[in-house]
Amino acid sequence: MKIYCCAEHVELALDEAVDEQETAPILEKIEAVDKQPFTCGYCGELAIYIVANE
Ligand SMILES: [Zn+2]
Repeated sequence: MKIYCCAEHVELALDEAVDEQETAPILEKIEAVDKQPFTCGYCGELAIYIVANE
């Protein structure tokens, strides 16, 4: 799974990822935020982080 999130909701996303699979999620910062179309899954702001757990 991959969750896109803004700085405000990154902790929520991490919690969700840990709940889903009981391993530590990978937190990745999105570079060049202004050039990507991803939005936060919680509030719709531009996403700054990707929380991945695969
Ligand atoms: Zn958000």
